[in-house]
Amino acid sequence: MKVSRSKELFEEAKKYIPGGVNSPVRAFKSVGETPRFIERAKGSHIWDVDGNEYIDYVCSWGPMILGHAHPSVVEAIKEQAEKGTSYGAPTELEVKLAKMIVEAVPSVEKVRMVNSGTEATMSAIRLARGYTGKNKIVKFEGCYHGHVDALLVKAGSGLTTFGVPTSPGIPEDFAKHTITVPFNDIDALKRVIDEYGDDIAAVIMEPVMANAGLILPELSFLEKVRELTADRGIVLIFDEVITGFRLSLGGAQAYFGITPDLSCFGKIIGGGLPVGAFGGRAEIMDYLAPEGPVYQAGTLSGNPLAMVAGIKTLEELKKPGVYEELREKGKKLSEGMKEAARSAGIYDKLCFKSIESISIVYFTSVDVKNYQDALTSNTEAYAVFFRKMLEQGVYLAPSQFEVAFVSTAHTDEDIERTVKAAEVAFREVR
Ligand code: PLP
Repeated sequence: MKVSRSKELFEEAKKYIPGGVNSPVRAFKSVGETPRFIERAKGSHIWDVDGNEYIDYVCSWGPMILGHAHPSVVEAIKEQAEKGTSYGAPTELEVKLAKMIVEAVPSVEKVRMVNSGTEATMSAIRLARGYTGKNKIVKFEGCYHGHVDALLVKAGSGLTTFGVPTSPGIPEDFAKHTITVPFNDIDALKRVIDEYGDDIAAVIMEPVMANAGLILPELSFLEKVRELTADRGIVLIFDEVITGFRLSLGGAQAYFGITPDLSCFGKIIGGGLPVGAFGGRAEIMDYLAPEGPVYQAGTLSGNPLAMVAGIKTLEELKKPGVYEELREKGKKLSEGMKEAARSAGIYDKLCFKSIESISIVYFTSVDVKNYQDALTSNTEAYAVFFRKMLEQGVYLAPSQFEVAFVSTAHTDEDIERTVKAAEVAFREVR
């Protein structure tokens, strides 16, 4: 496989951009490969600058649920660009997308647009603190909520890959109000709430943990988290940046039937443009400026290009049968991968997790139920697997701790080719 142009560009990029990338995991560091510089994408496929074509399961880390360059999204962006790209003033488009989110997500009565998932979680935490007048927040080990200072405490995602639990540059004082507890461990949360409950503003969680691989919640765990937080007047924040409009139109909260107080969104609601949002009970949301005292703002928030891309994406997702189709495709991929592992004689050494259109193969024989289990994965083995898949034209996440996303654009043929490639790659690991 020719990668000379990607190599050249990576060397040049390193001269001008720290590490040559604008987000660490893109550097392919933990899998020991040259990051592919991408030239174009269409549907479920992407092409790099050396002309290599790949079936893409990264999907820009989740947003591209309709596949790349979906015609109606592209058309809407073009049309809007002709009318101007940013006004710094209210638009009808913002109202339309906000209404679509409110109608789709059970707990959201009002929503505010921001520019990234990080901004959404940062703002939701501030709002919860402002609303309750309390300081502490609780997060779960391995959950990633963006690179907010107070939330980069034993975080997952890129940081897990690099084996660094927290980042320098965050004063201890900033992190000291963050309490971390293991996922799926209700007793641990109960102990923390018993001890610090009077000063806890919020519990924030990914309802399905998708940044330390894929860790599924026990339903009773989610129910108990809701119960314990409600009892103590603690704001429950669901970070649905990945799960929102992915597990179902109403996100994880509709999927599991649990109602948080606030929710954070990003990725899919921007159709591939920079976006984030946070929303929830009107009573809490009205604490935001200009009506309320909690300050939050953004020059490009509610950007018209992002709004039209989001509106068109949600319109497509609202069509009948879309989530059933995504589920079927997700199932075909995850079942196919298991079959490939069995044929390659490596099944017992792996742990497969999936939910709807999200899946992962951990290179561990442990049944992964929390972050510590995820860390038992053999990341070297994953790197071998990843490289062999890439060589065969399958673009997986360049990290053991990132999931695979299926889009509506993935075809049966894509998935069959992927499964065949996986059998070859599994044999390489064994
Ligand atoms: N929350 C979750 C669950 C995420 O997966 C991410 C990013 O992957 C974020 C927050 C941060 O979003 P962004 O990268 O848009 O800042």
